[in-house]
Amino acid sequence: MAWQFPKMTRRTFLKSTSVSAVGATLYHPDWIKLAGPTHPDAADHFAHSICNYCSSFCSLRITVAEKKGKQRIMKLGGNPNSTLNGDKICARGQSGLRQVYSANRIKTPLIRVAGSKRGEMKFRSATWEEAWDYIAQKSKSIKPWEWTVYGGWSTCSFYVPHTIAFTSAIQCPNLITSPTQNCVFDGHLGTNSMIGNFVVHGENIEDYENSDYILSIIGNACIGGVSTCRAVRFSAGKEKGAKVVVLDPRASETAAKADEWYAIKPGTDLDFTLAMLREMMNNGWYDEDFLVSHSNMPFLVRKNAHNAWELYLSAQKEPAVIDAKSGQVVFLPAFSNHNLQGSNGNSVTPLLRAPQGFTHNGEAMLTVFDAQHQELQPYTPEWAAANTGISADDIRKIAREFSTAKSPIVIPGWSGARYGNIQMLRRVQAMIQTLKGRLDVPGGWIFGGDYREQVRNMWAQKDNPKAPPLASLAGMPFVYWSANAAANPGTHDHGYPAWAAVHRDQTPKDSPDWAAFPFTTEVGLDSAIKGKLTWKGAPYLCKAILLNGTNPMRDAPEGFWQEAFTHPNMELVVVMDVMPADTVAYADVVLPELTYLERDEPAIYGNGVNPDNMLITRYQAIPPAYDNVILTDAFLKLTEVLTGSSEPYYQSVQALMGIPAARLKALTEKKRAQGIQNPFTMALRQMDFEAKAKGLGITPQKLDAVLREKGVYPVAKADELIANYGMPRKMALPTPSGRAEFYSNLYGQLREQFGLWDNPYFSVLATHIPADCRPGSKAPMADDEFYFTFGMVPVVSHCSPNNDFQPLVSISKFRGDIYTGLWVHSQRAGKLGLKEGDKVWVTNQLTQQKAEASVHVTRLVREDTVFLYSGYGDQNPALTHGYRMGTALNKITPDFIEPVSGGFRSQEFTVRLERA
Ligand code: SF4
Repeated sequence: MAWQFPKMTRRTFLKSTSVSAVGATLYHPDWIKLAGPTHPDAADHFAHSICNYCSSFCSLRITVAEKKGKQRIMKLGGNPNSTLNGDKICARGQSGLRQVYSANRIKTPLIRVAGSKRGEMKFRSATWEEAWDYIAQKSKSIKPWEWTVYGGWSTCSFYVPHTIAFTSAIQCPNLITSPTQNCVFDGHLGTNSMIGNFVVHGENIEDYENSDYILSIIGNACIGGVSTCRAVRFSAGKEKGAKVVVLDPRASETAAKADEWYAIKPGTDLDFTLAMLREMMNNGWYDEDFLVSHSNMPFLVRKNAHNAWELYLSAQKEPAVIDAKSGQVVFLPAFSNHNLQGSNGNSVTPLLRAPQGFTHNGEAMLTVFDAQHQELQPYTPEWAAANTGISADDIRKIAREFSTAKSPIVIPGWSGARYGNIQMLRRVQAMIQTLKGRLDVPGGWIFGGDYREQVRNMWAQKDNPKAPPLASLAGMPFVYWSANAAANPGTHDHGYPAWAAVHRDQTPKDSPDWAAFPFTTEVGLDSAIKGKLTWKGAPYLCKAILLNGTNPMRDAPEGFWQEAFTHPNMELVVVMDVMPADTVAYADVVLPELTYLERDEPAIYGNGVNPDNMLITRYQAIPPAYDNVILTDAFLKLTEVLTGSSEPYYQSVQALMGIPAARLKALTEKKRAQGIQNPFTMALRQMDFEAKAKGLGITPQKLDAVLREKGVYPVAKADELIANYGMPRKMALPTPSGRAEFYSNLYGQLREQFGLWDNPYFSVLATHIPADCRPGSKAPMADDEFYFTFGMVPVVSHCSPNNDFQPLVSISKFRGDIYTGLWVHSQRAGKLGLKEGDKVWVTNQLTQQKAEASVHVTRLVREDTVFLYSGYGDQNPALTHGYRMGTALNKITPDFIEPVSGGFRSQEFTVRLERA
C-alpha cells in the first residue's frame, strides 16, 4: 500500500491498515510509597514540574523557600524518582528560574505607541481588556485564511493539539511550527520515513547505556547539546566500556569523550554512510532473519517506464516476495509487521535475494535488497575517502567494528537543516541501524514509553471512525493527517487551503523556493504577504500573524522576517511571549505569558524520551508574579475575539481531541465564577486527571497525590514494553507498510505525485546527493576561505539557530571565548595573522551576507572549516543579558532550502574572513 499524500485522511488511513494482535499486562507502580519525607534535605517545600528548555522533558524537583508569606524559588534540580533524568539536570535547565525573576520579563500586555514603527521597542502598558479590544478592532477586516499562527517551542512540545484545535476554531488554515524547518522535519523526515515515527525528539532513543559501540555522525547535539537524560545514559555506556567513535569537523563535546575522532569534511557524512552501508551489505554484515521478517528488503522491485525502481504490486497494492520453499512469487498483506504470512493466509519464507536473472511474467525483477546493493556499488570506501578525508581503511574498519559489535548504535543527531542531503543521510543512518536488526531492542534504537503508548492506542482505535484524530493518531500518520488538513480546501467552510499548499502548487518545481512537503514551515509565506498567490481568482494574502513563544527574527535567515513584519500588507502582528525576544519588537500588541514555573499544565504528559512509560505534569511552584496568561486560556479568549464566541474552540477541542465540550464549558464557567486564574486551563487539567486516572484504575485524587509528591507516575518499564510491544517485532511500525522501509513509500509517493522520477532527493533507495558548498566552482579555496559549520552550545539553545531565552546566555560569559567566538584553526589563523579575540567580518560567499565575529584560535577544528555556536546575537536592547553578545548566526545563513520539506541549507556555503 502506498500512502496518498496529501489526500490521505485519518479514516482512509485506518481503514486500509491492519495490525498483528499483541497482548500484555502493564505492571502497577507498587514502589510508590507516599509516606515519609520527600527529600532528605527538605527545605521549605518542594514542587514537581517539567523543564521547559529542551524537548527532553526532564522531571524537575523545585526547592521553594517561604518567608513572611512570600514564596521564592531557590533551586531547580532533577527528580530522583524519574528514570529519565534522575536527580540531574543540565546548566540550561537549572538556570530556568532566571526567567521568573528576570527584570526583562514582560509583565503586562503591551500596545504599540501610536506613530512608532514595527521594529522599534516602543510600547505602552495596557490592560487585558485593552489588548483584546485592540486585536478585535484591528482584525475586523481580516478574513480567517488571512491569519497565520506561528507556534513556538512550548507549542511544539506541549500544546500541539490545542494549537491545531485553535486554528480549526478560527478557521485558519495556516500554521507554522517553530523548529520544523530547522530541525524536526528536515532532520527527522529521513529517519521517520524508515521507521514511521514522528515525535518531537522522542521517536527513537539510542540506548547508550546498553550499547558497546556508539557511532556519532553529525550528532553532537544529543550529548553535548545537551540532553541530560541522554548524557546520563551515554556516560553509563562509557563506564560500561562502550567504544565511542565520532565524526565531526570539530572536536565537539561528544568528540571530547570519544575513543576516536575523525574530522570529516563538512557535508560529506552521507558519502561516509553510503560507503559503510555498502561494506555491510557486501560483506554480509546484516541480520538476515530480521530483514526477511520485518523489513521490505525482500519485496520485489522492477524498473518502470521512467527507468526508476518501483515495487511490484498486485491489483490490491500488495507487495510480492519470492517464497523460498515453493520458488513462487507470493503476495503479502499491504500492511503488517511481518512478511511470514501471505495474503492467502499461508506461511511464507521470503528470499532476501532473488536468483540470478530472475524474471516474473517476463519481467526482470530484483528484491529491494538486490536493487539497493546494486545502487551502492559505486560508493566504495576509496570514493568516500576522497570526499570525506577519512581513509578507506578507516571507513572499512569502522564498518567492520560496528557490524561485529554486539549492540552497536548510530547517533543520528538532532539539528537537521544543514545541507540539502540531510534527509538522505538520516535515511542511510537508519538503514545502517536497521540492517543489523538493532531496532527496538536493548542496546539498539528503542522507542519512548509514551510514544509506544500512542502507537498502541492508534492501532487499538483503527476501526473506530469516530476516534478524535488528535487523540488517536501518532507518528507519521499524524503528519499525513495534519498535512492533508492544511492542503485540503475542504477542511474549512471558506474553502481556502493553507498558503503553503497554494504556493507549492503555483510555483515551478525547479524554483529555488519550491518544496514538496512545505506544510508548517515559512515556505510560501512571503508570496502570501506580497500578494503573489491567488485563490478563487483573487489574491490570497497573509495580513495578520499570531506568534507564540518563538523568535523567528533569530531563527530564520536574516531579512526574511523583517520584511514580512514590516510589509504594508501586514495589518496586525500579535506576539505572545515571556521575554522581549527580538521578534517582540515587531509586534503591534504583546500578550505576556505565564512562565512554566508559575503554572499548572492543562494536561498530564508522557515523560519525553524516557524508554519507560511514566506520567508527569507541572505543578505551580510559586504563585504567578504578574497577571499573565496560559496559552490555552489565551486561545479560548482569542477565539471569542476573532469569531464573536468561544463556542467554536470548545467544539474543536471535542471534535479533534475528544474532550466533551459541554462539561469543559461548564467546568470553565464554574472555575471562572470561583475567581480561579486561567479557568479553561484548569478545567482541562481536571478533566485530564479524571481521564488518565480512569485509564489507570485509580482515583484522580490518588493520581494527583502521587504526581504532587513524587513528580512521576510510573506505568510500565521499558523491558516489559519492548517484550510485548516491540516495533516491528511485536507491533507494526507506523510506516505505510508497517515494516521497516528500506524502499521508501514516502519518497516514492512524493516522486510520483510531482513526477520527479530521476531527482535524487526523492529517490526510493539510498543514493548520493552531494553537498555543494561552492556551486559551479572547481577552483581551490582562497587563502581566507573556509567551510562554515555551527552547533548548539550546552548552555543556551536546544536546537537550530534560535535564541528563545536570553538570560541563559549570561551564564556562558565565563567561557565566552569558546562559546561566543568563531573557531579558527591555529595554522590558518596564523597565516591570516589572526589572534584570539580579533574581530573579523565573516562573509557568505554565495549571498554576501556578513556578520562580525570574534576569533577563537584552536586546533580543535579542521583547517578548512570555521565553527560558530548558535544562540547569540540578539538585537533587542530590552534583553539586557544577551544583547549583542556573540554573533547572530542567521546573519550569515542563507534562505536556501532543499526541495523535499523546505529545510534550510544553513551550512551549504563557504565564508571568507577579513579583519574588521
Ligand atoms: S536536558 Fe533539556 S529538559 Fe533536561 S534539564 Fe537540560 S534543558 Fe531541561
